[in-house]
Amino acid sequence: MTAIQFQPFKYLRLSLTDRCNFRCRYCLPEAIQAFHSTENTLRMEDWKKLLPVMRELGIQKVRLTGGEPTLHPRLLEIIELLTSSGFTETALTTNGFRLAKLAPEFKRQGLGRVNVHLDSLRPAAFDKASQTKGLLDRVLDGIRIAKDLGLKPKVNLVLMKGENDSEAEDFMEFSDREGVEVRFIELMPTGTNADYFKEFFIPVTEIKRRLAEKMELIPLERDILGGPSRRFEIAGSKARVGFIGASCEGFCDSCQRLRLTSEGVVKRCLFEPGGLRLKPLLDRGATSSEIDLAMKKFLSEKWTFNPHVAGPVKEAFPLARIGG
Ligand code: SAM
Ligand code: SF4
Repeated sequence: MTAIQFQPFKYLRLSLTDRCNFRCRYCLPEAIQAFHSTENTLRMEDWKKLLPVMRELGIQKVRLTGGEPTLHPRLLEIIELLTSSGFTETALTTNGFRLAKLAPEFKRQGLGRVNVHLDSLRPAAFDKASQTKGLLDRVLDGIRIAKDLGLKPKVNLVLMKGENDSEAEDFMEFSDREGVEVRFIELMPTGTNADYFKEFFIPVTEIKRRLAEKMELIPLERDILGGPSRRFEIAGSKARVGFIGASCEGFCDSCQRLRLTSEGVVKRCLFEPGGLRLKPLLDRGATSSEIDLAMKKFLSEKWTFNPHVAGPVKEAFPLARIGG
């Protein structure tokens, strides 16, 4: 564990569930499908108590994630709670399975934007990455509907060497055609995908280099709440691209992301083992000031557990469990 210079946390990623209807091979390999029981997960009244505390602590942006957040039975109520809590930005990240149907509801509840995870534009590669069958068109429909409704979708894909890295240019054409920003995310080691990581990791800088040989990448200003993404527009096209890589220099210094898992554990870093367990406090009826105090103590230091900086990941956790 290494101490770093850090920005105060302004961005909360809130995982609603660790369950998912996809089985992305780097996230939920077959061996890791033990989900938390529902009695261990946060309830509506817990979020009602926690969100104002987070707001007071300086969180400006909240993103709902998971697992797959659209599987949560009370998702729309949670979005309503979120959008009425005074945050500057609200967003949701999804695999797109239910997006076409839910996007109008998201808009009605005042959600700001959605990110959609789409690892390939080729049906067979999409099926292989997500371990699903025939869902690509459904996800693409969801993205178009979200765009038409003004939910400003961005597309996220995790780079896998030999699987989808040859699609970088196709994704730029897609971005140009659909008017949707595409972000290349570097595969991260999670302690449950060590062999997969060894075989499929490719640095995001390599994809940037390949694209830069074919097109001019013009840097865009960094979005202060947008996290560690390095963004560019493509000269002569409407395409926009972001590169996000834990191995990239400055990744941790610019990270302002706090995470709250569906079991009520706060993490200051994606790779943090343990974290602050709020569930016992909530279950014994702790007041907002008690929770605020516990949070302030926990947040007074920021450490990085990033394996590219601090050494190999020891704890076994899939990102679905902590809200990637
Ligand atoms: N199910 C939703 C989705 O797929 O967007 C939300 C949760 S998912 C854990 C959030 C993001 O984490 C997705 O973009 C996914 O591709 C990414 N992700 C999961 N495991 C990852 C890993 N090992 N390395 C990098 N990104 C990962
Ligand atoms: Fe599910 Fe998202 Fe993980 Fe894929 S990345 S298995 S869609 S939680």
